[in-house]
Amino acid sequence: MARIQAIRGMNDILPEETPVWRFLEDTARQVFTQYGIDEVKFPIVEQTALFVRSIGEVTDIVEKEMYTFNDRNGDSLTLRPEGTAGCVRAAEQQGMLYNQVQRFWYSGPMFRYERPQKGRYRQFHQIGVECFGMSGPDIDAELIVMTARLWDRLGLSGHVELELNSIGSAAARGAYKSALVEYLSRYQSDLDEDSQRRLSSNPLRILDSKDAGTQKVLNEAPVFQDYMDADSRDHFDGLRRYLDDVGIAYKVNPKLVRGLDYYSKTVFEWITSSLGAQGTVCGGGRYDGLVEQLGGRPTPAVGFAMGIERLVLMLTGLSLQNSQWASHPDFYVTAVGEGSAAFAFSLAEKVRSAAGTPTVQLHCGGGSFKSQMKKADKSNARYALLIGESEVAAQSVTLKPLRADQEQKTLPAQEFLELIPQILELT
Ligand code: ATP
Ligand code: MG
Repeated sequence: MARIQAIRGMNDILPEETPVWRFLEDTARQVFTQYGIDEVKFPIVEQTALFVRSIGEVTDIVEKEMYTFNDRNGDSLTLRPEGTAGCVRAAEQQGMLYNQVQRFWYSGPMFRYERPQKGRYRQFHQIGVECFGMSGPDIDAELIVMTARLWDRLGLSGHVELELNSIGSAAARGAYKSALVEYLSRYQSDLDEDSQRRLSSNPLRILDSKDAGTQKVLNEAPVFQDYMDADSRDHFDGLRRYLDDVGIAYKVNPKLVRGLDYYSKTVFEWITSSLGAQGTVCGGGRYDGLVEQLGGRPTPAVGFAMGIERLVLMLTGLSLQNSQWASHPDFYVTAVGEGSAAFAFSLAEKVRSAAGTPTVQLHCGGGSFKSQMKKADKSNARYALLIGESEVAAQSVTLKPLRADQEQKTLPAQEFLELIPQILELT
């Protein structure tokens, strides 16, 4: 019978990769905690209308990337393509937004029907942060500074660059949109097909076009800066001052608009040149209108999301110190000879109960001493604990360093258990 395969673009993440994932997730969690951000979890499946209404009818995601299906009840549901919509839905539904200040983070799988390639998958993972109830540029700046701190902790500073823009208020964007459409309509036939279509549906997205012909037309197009409202301009200036004060470098990119409809004022992206076309590792911005758009009361909000797979590719590709995330057992317990398996089994349990929460891999299934030692070596453990008939008889253990050039020694099991904290600090 034909073997059943995973769905294209949906990856298995294997033990050799999970340590770097965990390093990334743990570091992010530590940094978020430093900034007083709380974790939330919300469903992977939501009503389709939630994403259509928040992300926008005429966006890549809603037009062609969503996994949408009818459940047995005939309700249209969608696997979440991003986290902001669900986070806002949950916080609003639980009455956590009106007149309150909230800082949330989340982590988990997202689903988009895209063409799978390096750094672009159909199931991928994001870690995101969403903050509510704060309208000033200070929180925008704090989120950006926090991501910079995260890159630093991960060893990625110097490999990512910050691009920043303000897309102004909805009214300013409206006025700019009209001017842009008027200009682009004159060159309609020079635009790529997608852009021609967007001229009537979502003209700002044309700024995003990678088509050379379209980019040429755009060179002379009206610029948003000339249409920006005073409030957004002040906000942007304030944000830049905060970033300048703490020495965060950035490039203002007037063409940065981001793919989703709900943004206003601040938008930003962290970009790397080390991943080819899939260079955006983190993107975010302010979305003051979204809560109201989803039926809540007006609530200022700002957030970002980063792509875990792309960051993992960076971390492994840059072959950064893998000692940062590689984890090895402290002890590998081998057992050879009469009565040794039972003694080793209970010894392993006692070691795990010792101070310092040591990690212990017990050799299961017997075999020769040689084959057990091979496994011990392969496990990357720091020490092997050798149990043979003489150890069983004397209630002792033989401690054999595997990573350091030291002599093995045999000592009473009880003494060994008490020495564990010292042994673990030795190397
Ligand atoms: P891109 O321009 O690369 O398509 P995007 O603007 O669609 O990205 P966002 O919706 O802003 O991406 O999502 C935030 C982050 O999630 C991205 O910066 C990226 O790191 C990651 N991401 C988005 N789509 C995918 C995907 N299909 N596979 C892997 N990571 C992704
Ligand atoms: Mg995309």
